[in-house]
Amino acid sequence: MAVALGKDDSTELHLKDTIESGAGISDEEIVRILVSEAKNRVEEFIRFVGVQFERKNEEFDFALEGGHSLPRILHIRDKTGEYIQKSLVEKAMRENIRIIENAFLLKIVTEESYVIGAEVMLNGEHIKMSADNIILATGGSGQLYKITTNAQTATGDGIAIAYRAGAVVSNLEFVQFHPTATILPDGKVRLITEAIRGAGAKIINDRGERFVCKYDERCELATRDIISRAIYFEMQKKNTRIYLDLRDVPEEKIKKEFEGFYETMARYRKDITKEPIEIVPAAHYMNGGIRVNEFGQSNLEGLYAIGEASCTGVHGANRLASNSLLEAVVFSSRAVEAIVNGAKWKGLRLEKKDLVNPPIDLGKHLEDVKIIKDVNELKEVMWNKVGIVREGKTLSEAILRIKKTRDKINQQKKIFDKKQLEFVNMLDLSELIATAALVREESRGCHYRKDFPSENEKWKVTINFVLQ
Ligand SMILES: Cc1cc2nc3c(=O)[nH]c(=O)nc-3n(C[C@H](O)[C@H](O)[C@H](O)COP(=O)(O)OP(=O)(O)OC[C@H]3O[C@@H](n4cnc5c(N)ncnc54)[C@H](O)[C@@H]3O)c2cc1C
Repeated sequence: MAVALGKDDSTELHLKDTIESGAGISDEEIVRILVSEAKNRVEEFIRFVGVQFERKNEEFDFALEGGHSLPRILHIRDKTGEYIQKSLVEKAMRENIRIIENAFLLKIVTEESYVIGAEVMLNGEHIKMSADNIILATGGSGQLYKITTNAQTATGDGIAIAYRAGAVVSNLEFVQFHPTATILPDGKVRLITEAIRGAGAKIINDRGERFVCKYDERCELATRDIISRAIYFEMQKKNTRIYLDLRDVPEEKIKKEFEGFYETMARYRKDITKEPIEIVPAAHYMNGGIRVNEFGQSNLEGLYAIGEASCTGVHGANRLASNSLLEAVVFSSRAVEAIVNGAKWKGLRLEKKDLVNPPIDLGKHLEDVKIIKDVNELKEVMWNKVGIVREGKTLSEAILRIKKTRDKINQQKKIFDKKQLEFVNMLDLSELIATAALVREESRGCHYRKDFPSENEKWKVTINFVLQ
């Protein structure tokens, strides 16, 4: 979790790094809230949840991650997420919060432009719940892609469901790919923490050559989008394989600080201190989502979104590493305070310069394309046509195939199977991502168009969709 608490650090420096990573699309006012509230909110989080971040001589032991000017990351070896999740679950149990497990959100029910409840599926039953306020915290959408670091549940349900209910969704073209994931022998994808590059790991090709410095002078410490693309282009050259090389990092340091990675690979008889590990980029983080204001409020009265499902404006075109957990802590606290304090609803207001439902020209007709037969085929389509490197022609093809598939599903009877419902959500969100990517005729942050490889001042706007 990124926070500017180190002795040479400042909120201004954290703001600068975040804005720079966001590539002109971050909302500076919102970033200012993030960095200026970070200290108090993080201290409150530590006190309240009881997470013990790593310390050295009583002081926090900050790790360095790509895009940050200096070490700023609170961590617990390379198992931070695991410890945070465990502590949160334990806290929720102690607080006696009512948790209904395995309830699957189907629909947000609205009346005019405010929410009145939700429909969920629980043990095969369709249940209606009424609510004055709903906080959506349904996470990201990495599962739309063939290779992802995300959990099986990250299918973008909340974003698709909110969109169908009338919420504004934004910045969806900005899908962040993490440069260093590895596919384990059992097919599972494991993320290799960015901090390992901060500690000196090198990225090499199968001829042992370092190549990332050709793309950015910061070499392995450049931002994720730059490194992911460098790896993508290198992989295109005669099917080159790419590796992470830790042989120059002291063995003691690896075993202590990257214990999780060391142990995982050891289970597969690989010693990361002695042999380079094959890596691939993987879909990792959705920068966009349900557009909300500084209190997590959407345009639908009573509907809040927090965490990766939301689009607060912090990340812009590219999230700075470890800003997501900080964003979740800061803006979820603000959303809860707004509800608990009974503050007057402010709601999201779009700015004049924001594009809403921009038109697209697909150039072809639905009859000319094949339907997508299942989730795996959708993931292939997204990976190949809406992935790390995109272009107009293939984006149009993806949109047409998704539209045709969706039309076919619309003609069927009502669906009550969870897997099929998830597929519908995935199709809807995939279409929105591909459409935003087609509209944005430039390359910016983690959105890269082969046919428009440069940044264009004209596109310093957000692309928003709302169901008419
Ligand atoms: C491997 C990995 C490492 C990361 N490392 C970092 C890091 O070091 N620093 C950092 O800042 N960020 C990191 N991130 C990003 C960060 O962890 C995520 O953005 C964050 O955990 C998202 O939290 P969330 O609460 O928004 O969503 P999640 O934690 O994904 O939770 C979403 C929940 O919603 C549920 N859900 C989804 N759909 C439905 C539905 N239809 N009905 C009911 N429930 C539903 C899911 O089951 C899940 O429980 C990492 C992400 C990954 C994958």
